[in-house]
Amino acid sequence: MLQQTQVATVIDYFNRFIRRFPDIPSLAAADPDRVLKAWEGLGYYSRARHLQKAARELVASGTPRVPDDPERFAQLPGVGDYINAAVQSIAFGHALAVADGNVKRVLSRLLMKADPVNRPAAHKIFRCLADRLLDCRDPGTWNQAMMELGALICRPRAPRCDQCPVSRDCGAFQQGQVGKFPARAAVGAVPRRQMVAGVVIRKGKMLIVRRPAEGMLGGLWEFPAGPVKTGRDTEAACREALLRTVGLTVTIAAHLGRVRHAYTHFTLDLDACLCRPLAGRVRLNGPEAFAWVRFDELSKYPLHKAVHKLLPKVRALPVFRLPPVLPF
Ligand code: SF4
Repeated sequence: MLQQTQVATVIDYFNRFIRRFPDIPSLAAADPDRVLKAWEGLGYYSRARHLQKAARELVASGTPRVPDDPERFAQLPGVGDYINAAVQSIAFGHALAVADGNVKRVLSRLLMKADPVNRPAAHKIFRCLADRLLDCRDPGTWNQAMMELGALICRPRAPRCDQCPVSRDCGAFQQGQVGKFPARAAVGAVPRRQMVAGVVIRKGKMLIVRRPAEGMLGGLWEFPAGPVKTGRDTEAACREALLRTVGLTVTIAAHLGRVRHAYTHFTLDLDACLCRPLAGRVRLNGPEAFAWVRFDELSKYPLHKAVHKLLPKVRALPVFRLPPVLPF
């Protein structure tokens, strides 16, 4: 959970998750929808899918415990350098250095390394530096100290050099060049993508679909949707998307509005249209499952953030006579 996500955000999720899935067998046996529901809002959903796959592999192997063995642990789904070093050093004392964003920033300032920390090529350089500094007598405590130093003292903006325990050894501080480190490579403007979602209502229930398990937002539920090419009419794109992804011919009854959501690599503008089904039966092309649900049943399904942003517009539809407080 802590990969790419701040501790303050994670704490509640972690406590809820551990209550629901207190050990590896219970996580392995859970319905994947329940696992994603517990992760809903935390983002980077592949982490949840990998966690459950790893739990299932461990149960299938007959030893449902986290392996005290970096090589074996690294074979599990979703375990890369960072997870391997963090778990194996903190839980079992293996001498592997963590090089996350906080540690890279500390190292860059401490050693005045000008390699841009946001370039994948620089990761190996910082990992080697972290390995060289690692205190092999207590690597778990060392790694936690380095991460905490970056998170609390050597902050991205306004580092607290006056409280820093390593300021005497810090090259950037000693030379009055803290503001120059870490270097970052210029990144281009974040692209925009436009999509349209169709809210198809039949007998008081809405059609939702589950995204394919692999890929972005994999396994999460949403209204059937498709891209809107530049210059194309949103309503026509919505009709096409519904025909293509769920096999339904629809008319557009109303445009419900637009929401915007920022992902790491792009910003999504998502329009929603209220649709009346004219013909066809649901035939999936892309999504892995579908369900017709009442509005109050939506809370059982893991939905992604952009869909959550649409819900107030959907809830306002006269067809849903809802109580004023939603169960989200
Ligand atoms: Fe970071 Fe300042 Fe400490 Fe150097 S002295 S490691 S720049 S907080």
